[in-house]
Amino acid sequence: MLPGVIGVMMATEAIKYIIGIGEPLIGRLILYDALSMTYREMKVPRDENCPLCGKNPSITKLIDDYDAAAENPETFAPAAD
Ligand SMILES: [Zn+2]
Repeated sequence: MLPGVIGVMMATEAIKYIIGIGEPLIGRLILYDALSMTYREMKVPRDENCPLCGKNPSITKLIDDYDAAAENPETFAPAAD
């Protein structure tokens, strides 16, 4: 049941982002505690060294060949330093 709860939350975020409504979960992290049925929210600052969205991204396109990338990941997604 827990994966379903989080999956619905993430699907909702994707729909909100695609159609441009609401307040997207950008720069924030939701911590969900199913045992106490509580949520906490944390701010997550942008990582300027992120290989995807940092100042000098090294990941600039989608992977065409997933199987090749899985066998040799450093070729497709250089690690951030
Ligand atoms: Zn990033």
